[in-house]
Amino acid sequence: MRISSSDEIFLHFKQHPYISLDSRKTQPGSLFFALKGENFNGNQYAKLALEQGAAYAVIDDPEYYTGERTLLTSDTLTALQQLAADYRNTLNIPVIGITGTNGKTTSKELIFTALSTKFRACATSGNFNNHIGVPVTLLNIKPDTEIAIVEMGANHIGEIAALCRIARPTHGLITNIGKAHLEGFGSPEGVIKAKKELYDHLRKNGGTAFVHGNDHLLMQLSEELPRITYGNSGNEPFFGELIDDEPFLSVKLQKPLSLQIQTQLSGGYNFSNVMAAIAIAGHFRVNLNDAATALQAYEPKMNRSQVLQTGKNIIVLDAYNANPSSMTAAISNFSAKSPDKKVLILGDMFELGTASEQEHNSILELAVSCGFRRIITAGPEFHKAAACAVDVLAFLSVEDLRLYLLNNPLSGENILIKGSRGMKLETITDAL
Ligand code: ATP
Ligand code: MG
Repeated sequence: MRISSSDEIFLHFKQHPYISLDSRKTQPGSLFFALKGENFNGNQYAKLALEQGAAYAVIDDPEYYTGERTLLTSDTLTALQQLAADYRNTLNIPVIGITGTNGKTTSKELIFTALSTKFRACATSGNFNNHIGVPVTLLNIKPDTEIAIVEMGANHIGEIAALCRIARPTHGLITNIGKAHLEGFGSPEGVIKAKKELYDHLRKNGGTAFVHGNDHLLMQLSEELPRITYGNSGNEPFFGELIDDEPFLSVKLQKPLSLQIQTQLSGGYNFSNVMAAIAIAGHFRVNLNDAATALQAYEPKMNRSQVLQTGKNIIVLDAYNANPSSMTAAISNFSAKSPDKKVLILGDMFELGTASEQEHNSILELAVSCGFRRIITAGPEFHKAAACAVDVLAFLSVEDLRLYLLNNPLSGENILIKGSRGMKLETITDAL
């Protein structure tokens, strides 16, 4: 029995440039990586993957070593990350790294959409942005790919730095820095430190950042970095104005040329995501008329700021995720026009650790101050917060809320639904 070196695994990958992490979905001729999770040990499936036609199985448990076509390593995850880093080093293309508290996936999709009008582009699939997703994204880049867009997520300090060592982004975008995953980052300062790791990598390696000029914190953190800015001030090389955001966001680009972008995105906060896509496309000399046409055709996916017309009500469904910053953005945005004619439905925000109680209180306070016609909440955290608030209808669970709505139907309402993904607030839409 012997340990395979990273060079050896790389040679195999060159001959079999497809990887698989799931023995049930293993393509013939791919390299199967036997990863371990809390509730599973991929080593157990190596044999099955080989039977399904995998060329080789990379394992880290000698018990499952069969000699032929098994590559034993000391740690499969490290081997996967090392392979991704080695492969990345052979690619001479721009790699755009994206991190931030909110809007990473939306920005990634918009940037991919805009760049694809000119380049063979490759981007993170879905939300696969962690220590496994980033290597997989890199290993999916084809030899003829001209530009790559890699979403990088983090719950802890040091994670973005580690992902940067693997992906070696030449360009970077921090969408924004707000409050999320406070449990893992320890404090708001921890969040800043963690996100800034992308700028630190660019600074050390001669990279370029795309920075939202309206965001003072990001402007300050990127001061000594080659950067391209965008925003709603005439000083920016990419300057646009938010014309309307209800029901859909409309942007008037003023610089470097004048054109209108009527999107299918709801929420004014998407202005910065659209402008980031325009700035990046413009930087890479994409025809901005083509980029704008593609951005107009883009439809958001997976319960992210979707507008639903149910026949009874108009719903903005934002049940994909929620943290204090995205809640604040969504509530402020929704209340900007005639809040007295609108209904707000909020679900609990997860992963806030000891800050949870205070953050739920603050969000509810903000919501109450906006003057909505009705505020309804679901989940124990908002239930607690609502004890001190007047005129808030609070339910302990989403199921209780759903039953209430079935018995007390709303109609003719304009409703924003927002909460953490785990709350599954989308399950109430059939009652609306
Ligand atoms: P995740 O951490 O789950 O990967 P993400 O950063 O990829 O999230 P998206 O999936 O793009 O974020 O968007 C999730 C939600 O964040 C949206 O539905 C919206 O409510 C909010 N959001 C998106 N863009 C912004 C923004 N620029 N500023 C504030 N909130 C935003
Ligand atoms: Mg995401």
